[in-house]
Amino acid sequence: MSKYVFITGGVVSSVGKGITAASIGTILKSRQITVSAQKLDPYLNVDPGTLSPYQHGEVFVTQDGAETDLDLGNYERFIDVNLTAESSVTSGQIYSAVLAKERRGDFLGGTIQVVPHVITEIKERFKQLAQKSQAEVVIIEVGGTVGDIEGQPFLEAIRQMRKDVGRDNVLYIHVTFLPYLTSTQEVKTKPTQHSVNELRRIGIQPDIIICRSDYPISEGIRDKISLFCDVDRQAVIALLTVSTIYEVPLVLEEAGLGQLIVDKLSLNAHQRDLSQWQELVRRLEAPREPIDIALVGKYVELKDSYFSVREALHHAALYHNRDINLLWIPSEALESDGGEALLRSAQGIIIPGGFGVRGIEGMINAATYARENEIPYLGLCLGMQVMVIEFARYVLGSTEPNSTEFDASTPYPVIDLLPEQHGVESKGGTMRLGNYPCQLVNGSHAASAYGQSLVYERHRHRFEFNNQFRAQLQEAGMVYSGVSPNGNLVEVCELANHPWMVSCQFHPEFGSRPNNPHPLFRDFIGVAKDVLREGAQPALPLSP
Ligand code: GLN
Repeated sequence: MSKYVFITGGVVSSVGKGITAASIGTILKSRQITVSAQKLDPYLNVDPGTLSPYQHGEVFVTQDGAETDLDLGNYERFIDVNLTAESSVTSGQIYSAVLAKERRGDFLGGTIQVVPHVITEIKERFKQLAQKSQAEVVIIEVGGTVGDIEGQPFLEAIRQMRKDVGRDNVLYIHVTFLPYLTSTQEVKTKPTQHSVNELRRIGIQPDIIICRSDYPISEGIRDKISLFCDVDRQAVIALLTVSTIYEVPLVLEEAGLGQLIVDKLSLNAHQRDLSQWQELVRRLEAPREPIDIALVGKYVELKDSYFSVREALHHAALYHNRDINLLWIPSEALESDGGEALLRSAQGIIIPGGFGVRGIEGMINAATYARENEIPYLGLCLGMQVMVIEFARYVLGSTEPNSTEFDASTPYPVIDLLPEQHGVESKGGTMRLGNYPCQLVNGSHAASAYGQSLVYERHRHRFEFNNQFRAQLQEAGMVYSGVSPNGNLVEVCELANHPWMVSCQFHPEFGSRPNNPHPLFRDFIGVAKDVLREGAQPALPLSP
């Protein structure tokens, strides 16, 4: 039977609860304990698929096609597992399920209430993941902050779990923030005391408190939290801000958290081995020469919108022992005259996924710049559609080629709705989602990157390459280096007369791992690192 680690957050949001949950996965896995993870999101959307990136950051897609919170990406990268739809639970899903049961008549005669019906449904989701994953430990992160009205049912559900599955099988970890007062030069514990009080009020006594802080935490502060919050002294864990998120498992391990969890849950642990992770962090923290990569997107003001893309770039750079200097370029800035000056220092250009017409012309300009100046280009989903539009405009000598997403009446709809999307009215969960196979063409950049001929990649799109234009663009130098096994869908395309201009209709960023970069990102960075920036001097002596 699985044991459960429940993680709640206090004081403020955005203190790294997700990274902490993921890191707990890393340190348990380093002891050969099998782990799975689940995120509970209190909002009423069924999934974040319909949310603007400005509201929610990136939508992470699982292999089985669930649109989920970006924390699932952190769990996958830190625990090195592929999660499934069961790992993402929202209030919207819970209420939909309860109401569907009510309409079916499952509760005939009964009054449907938050307690017990909604709570029971939530607990079912915990048990479903435990059952499906067969993990020894299931880590469950409650989104939001203790005290939020929306979060109450989740907290009640995790409270009941201690009674349901037994005291020794459940652990509560509370992640808080200790603010620093400049005037008195001290970190303060009162907000933490209050949030623990709030937890206790609903019947949860945390076993461990993880204190995030930007400033060192003295022993006196630990004593105080231990006393007022009634947790063992060694269960008050300081987590200072670190330079890379990948350092968090090491900091927590150093503080004794791994052993503490093993003891408290009486887990069957092996000797821990974090050597690979330590090596990863050592290499990440060593100075490395940066590569300038321009990320041209719609939502660059909020970096979380491209969380997995940014991580995948860092993983790839590390592979080549280089660092990434990411130039965040709002695509609209490339729409005005002279905008391309922003790209001048870029050694590689990446255009990530996105929806809607805003900023598209700027992205197309970036693709023109990459093609004409032979700058390595990696297009992800929308980035592939942009590359196709740009190339078609060049080949046809017209500004009219477009995607019907942006211009429904274009005479050259080089990107058009997928056949199965015609007639789809509702927006939620109706895209082409999750893993689909892709057959690679020998001799292409894509095939050489992957080193295999059949791959499965995660999708999230409604539009696709329009086959009517396939032959014409091929003659002009576009190579369809990855296609669906029946040949109907273009999955990867690249340009023959370009050092490395490769795009894919899927999202490779979701599959990248810190110690195992995605092949397309790895090769993109591999080529970009040798591009000389404008004004940069080649290293001497020059090789012949
Ligand atoms: N908007 C495009 C489509 O729906 C691209 C989607 C994406 O980049 N994820 O096909």
